[in-house]
This record gives sequence, C-alpha cells and structure tokens, in this order.
Amino acid sequence: MKIICIGRNYAEHAKELGNEIPDEPVIFMKPKSALLQPHTPFYYPEFTNELNSECELVLRVCKNGKYINERNASNYYNGITVGIDFTARDLQNIAKEKGLPWEKAKAFDNSAAIGKFLDLTPDQKKANFTFKLLVNNQEMQRGNSADMVFKFDNLVAQISNYFSLNIGDIIFTGTPAGVGECVVGDELEAFLGNQSLLKLDIK
Ligand code: ZN
Repeated sequence: MKIICIGRNYAEHAKELGNEIPDEPVIFMKPKSALLQPHTPFYYPEFTNELNSECELVLRVCKNGKYINERNASNYYNGITVGIDFTARDLQNIAKEKGLPWEKAKAFDNSAAIGKFLDLTPDQKKANFTFKLLVNNQEMQRGNSADMVFKFDNLVAQISNYFSLNIGDIIFTGTPAGVGECVVGDELEAFLGNQSLLKLDIK
C-alpha cells in the first residue's frame, strides 16, 4: 500500500503558511513505514523541535486504476476516516527554502495516523464532511470538505494521472487552517462529524 497526501488543499491553510493557492493539487507520498499502527503511542521524533499535527479527511482506495475519469472517480474509494499528517515543520521550512524534497519532514516513521474507516455509500460520497481535531479537549482545527480547493473525485482523477491507485492505498486530502504545534503529553482526538475515530497521545 502507499499513502498519497495532498498539500495546500484549503485556501485558509495555504495562506497561514504563506503559500499560494495551487492551480493543480500538490501531491506527496509517505511510505508504508509511516503508518502508525492502531493503539500505538506516537513518540515525539528527536530530529524536530517543531512538530505539527495536520488533521485531514482520509479516503480508502478500493479499486485499482490509472487515468481515472473524474466522472467515475467515486468508484475508486469506499471508506473515509480522519487522520493526522504529522509534520516536522522546522525541517520542512529548511527543505522549502533550499528547494529540497519534503520526505524527512513529512514521511518519517509513524507520521501518518489514521482512525477507523467508515464505509461510504454512493450518496454519502456526494455529501460534505465536517471534521475536527481536539488537543487536550480544546478544539484546534475544524474543517469541511466543501472548502477543499480540489474535491475528492477531482483529486482521485488527478492523482491517477501520475500514480496508479491500488486497493488498500489511502489518500490524505489536505488540512484546513488552524494547524499548530504539539508537544509531549498532548492528547489528540480527531472526529468525523461528531464521531470520535482517532485518539492518540504524544509520548
Ligand atoms: Zn497534510
């Protein structure tokens, strides 16, 4: 499986990091080793001093394909959850300054945490999803898929022009505004609507 991630997919978040709103999706990947196993603690990595938790909607790919047409794209995913795209922002800023790849900042071990997937019906795929991240029971981020620059079906189509999609792949669809730092001892809890799907501690 592979983990495909989208950057700058919410205008307000692009602005808060001083980035332009892209005219095509910003795509990056994390390897399988980035997936945090369920019920496993997350350990603050020693190579960063500025760890950010980006809460995102995550799709589960259920069909192999490439060059997927946007009109059929919804057949290629069948589950949704919330996830956290852990980011070593200090390393990412250095990489951005130097024009270097982001992997050390974004794709390190356990940098992709996902909640329990919920199955999606065809009707639900057309609906908008709200989601939020609580840190120590305080709301840190809140998002709505209606505010995405590139919506689910468009993302699937555009990703598949570059990367074959395979059953079991997952897609992080970008984070809304409000991204902040997390520190050792924080308790993170992510919700889809009002349903808590992911809970983890920073050790
Ligand atoms: Zn992200």
